Amino acid sequence: MGNDKCVICRSAAGQMVPVAGFVGISCSQCGDYSINEQLVQDLAKARRTFNVVRAQTWLAISRKSGVIPTITALDVSIHGLVNDG
Ligand SMILES: [Zn+2]
Repeated sequence: MGNDKCVICRSAAGQMVPVAGFVGISCSQCGDYSINEQLVQDLAKARRTFNVVRAQTWLAISRKSGVIPTITALDVSIHGLVNDG
């Protein structure tokens, strides 16, 4: 996984130690989060992009629980984090 860009806002980003099946990203704009690897591939294949404002807002809210937010397909679907088509 040579992904050195934030999946959400496409800024240059660092990587965190990955958990199996997830990509860990440390972005100066979005903060630290991890995201399901399959989800990243599916979105890329479908040429869908994140709604940056919604995703960053959701991350900020999720982070209040004190854990690093993890983005799954379910979160994307429930919270509308990805732009349509
Ligand atoms: Zn970002």
